Amino acid sequence: MTGAPGTVAGIDIGGTTTQAVLCSPDLDVLDRTELPTPAAEGGRVMVAAALGALRRLLDRTPARLLGVGIGAAGVVDPRAGRVLVASDSFHGWAGFPVTETVEQALGVPAFLDNDVNAFLRGEVARGAVAGATHVLGMTLGTGVGGALWLDGALYDGPHGAAGEIGHVPGFGDLPCTCGGRGHLETLASGRSLAARYAERTGRLDTAREIAGAAGRGDPDALAVYEAAGAAVARALLLTAGLLDVTTFVIGGGVGGSWSLLEPALFKTLAAEPPVSGRPLHALPSRLGGDAVALGAAARARAALT
Ligand SMILES: [Zn+2]
Repeated sequence: MTGAPGTVAGIDIGGTTTQAVLCSPDLDVLDRTELPTPAAEGGRVMVAAALGALRRLLDRTPARLLGVGIGAAGVVDPRAGRVLVASDSFHGWAGFPVTETVEQALGVPAFLDNDVNAFLRGEVARGAVAGATHVLGMTLGTGVGGALWLDGALYDGPHGAAGEIGHVPGFGDLPCTCGGRGHLETLASGRSLAARYAERTGRLDTAREIAGAAGRGDPDALAVYEAAGAAVARALLLTAGLLDVTTFVIGGGVGGSWSLLEPALFKTLAAEPPVSGRPLHALPSRLGGDAVALGAAARARAALT
């Protein structure tokens, strides 16, 4: 051990990419790296790959590692440090003891969070809603995720599912990936934008390609992004009415097309203000691809200091 200031690390294990960041105690990102997630090869290989990435960062930055936070896609048990439920694209991930494996490999404490919770921690720590005390975070990616920050702390509820705004009904009648109907996700996820666009045009494009078409004035592309923006706004209004939360940060790949979501989103917010009369503040993610890893590092720092 030296007297050098310590570092904290954050790892984002996503379905396609694993990202690692090394941060100062103030959460400045000192170094970062990423690699494809070996999602088909099982939890042990996935965590080993993430540890390999982190070791490369540690080799380049001579400072004492204090702890590691990990943000992982899927349902996780943050207390046990295990993944509970993972999507089909992962093999051997559900049940894998993530924090135990990382702690044994590195000899420092490790902390596991769901990736949407980590995204929100990152944006509150150093992003679009830095310093806010009450926030709903939403990620519009392949699916729609949500997380709540209440009274200056993450609120995950008695079953770890608080803030899951993507899977509440009241957003039409379309079938959702979860088996339900009319969920926000049926309008506002990348997969849904593609499906809604295909229904209108017969074309199978990605959400990113549809965003490009919208930028060129394609009316069907504009319409599906408009529907997504309006649906997101209704989710924010529900949250504001229920919890008096008026600050929102929206990320994920679809959230990156903020200029396409924004007009319908703000129009809907203006049309149906909450009874509190308080204005709602909806902001795009500022940290982008760093948010989950940085938020995971923020979790580790908060637990260690
Ligand atoms: Zn659903």
